[in-house]
Amino acid sequence: MGISQTRIHGGSVYVGGDLKRNDILIDGGVVVGMVTPGSDAEAGETIDATGQLVLPGIIDTHAHTRDPGYTHKEDLTTASRAAAVGGVTTMIDMPNVEPPTDTVELFEAKREDAARKSVIDWGHWVAPTKLDQIPKMAAAGATGFKFYQVSGAYPHDPRLAVNDEGSILDIFEAVSDVGVPCLVHPFNQAIFDALSERAWKTGSPHNWDTFSQIYTTDAIWKTAVGVLIELQLMTGVRLQLVHTHSQGSLELIRAAKDRGQRVTAAVDPKYYQLTRSELQNGKGRVCPAGYVTEDPARIEAIWAALNDGTIDMIDSDHAPHTLDEVAAQDNDAWSAGMGSPQYDWLYSIVLSDVAAGRLPLSRAVALLSEEPARLLGLWPRKGSLLPGSDADLVLVDPGARHTLTDEGLQTKVGWTPYLGRTITGVVNLTMLRGTVIARDRQVMEEPGFGQYVAGVAQ
Ligand SMILES: [Zn+2]
Repeated sequence: MGISQTRIHGGSVYVGGDLKRNDILIDGGVVVGMVTPGSDAEAGETIDATGQLVLPGIIDTHAHTRDPGYTHKEDLTTASRAAAVGGVTTMIDMPNVEPPTDTVELFEAKREDAARKSVIDWGHWVAPTKLDQIPKMAAAGATGFKFYQVSGAYPHDPRLAVNDEGSILDIFEAVSDVGVPCLVHPFNQAIFDALSERAWKTGSPHNWDTFSQIYTTDAIWKTAVGVLIELQLMTGVRLQLVHTHSQGSLELIRAAKDRGQRVTAAVDPKYYQLTRSELQNGKGRVCPAGYVTEDPARIEAIWAALNDGTIDMIDSDHAPHTLDEVAAQDNDAWSAGMGSPQYDWLYSIVLSDVAAGRLPLSRAVALLSEEPARLLGLWPRKGSLLPGSDADLVLVDPGARHTLTDEGLQTKVGWTPYLGRTITGVVNLTMLRGTVIARDRQVMEEPGFGQYVAGVAQ
């Protein structure tokens, strides 16, 4: 037992699919073992975790850090700080920045800049829109690829949109060759455009309410997912579908998995958490959501999929916009920004569903940590607290309740779509590779501590 060890004492540690009353020993940034709470072990530092859960840190595969290009909303440092207090230890961010990350040169510039900025471990999904760049970006260490079938205005940058199925086939072929994941925001733009035209002709206001109702139309998502699954079958690409809130999509994904296809799915909290009245009354009205939670069959299908593994992971879609930008949404939802900040209380939002009996803790950990780690080819080094794993973990008071306000948030935009909601389960400490990076909702570590997560071919 070296004196450099850290011992987390008295907590219930999530390991091997269950909570165990063990002390956890950490040395050199990794978990070196578990001991029973009464036993002797020399430690340089002891962290008291009495009454707390010790859980793997969240690995978030869907961040919008807004950096570079939109840093008035957020930047790598503020995003990673909000992530750290919210229980996130690794984040992978998206290419819809300015300039969009669609060449190896832009990827390397982004990586070099970000290396000085992030408090937590981080990676980057790059855009596969230039076919000749795909092998180059993969060779340079891109975590994986992401494109959008949705087009229009920022954040759905038309330069990153691919609607044409032939082009998608080419992209899947090329990404399959390099073996890293290809994330897709599925969307049938033609159906969306037709429904939008129809709504405007009948005099529906151009506000978020009309927009959200159309945007979440099941067929827009289901038809897209159907084609993507067929193209996956043709190419063998590791397809990760994001925003899987459509009931029809979930049925297609379940069937594809039953056939053994390499298809994984993520859902982000805004779709299954935020209600229409919450969006109307609060500042979260920028979200294209609210209609999902008010469709009983659809929300039931999402919960079933979260529980049975059809949905593999919960990703944050942390997508901050300023309140001024949100206000602009009221009369012109079609050209305003979409999305909401999610990081500051991310683990607590999910743990509240655990407390309410909607999700077993084992599924929460699988959705937030284990499955994302597998997607990235990092499990069990990350996403678990087995001996040898990185000591990326959170201490949670499972019974603590807190009513969310806009006070004290780490995100640069300074607001939460969950305003007024009372959560159960508060993250008190976040540790990354054995170092405490956040404690009592304060960030303890400097920008640049985070390490880059390169793509792993599988
Ligand atoms: Zn997103």
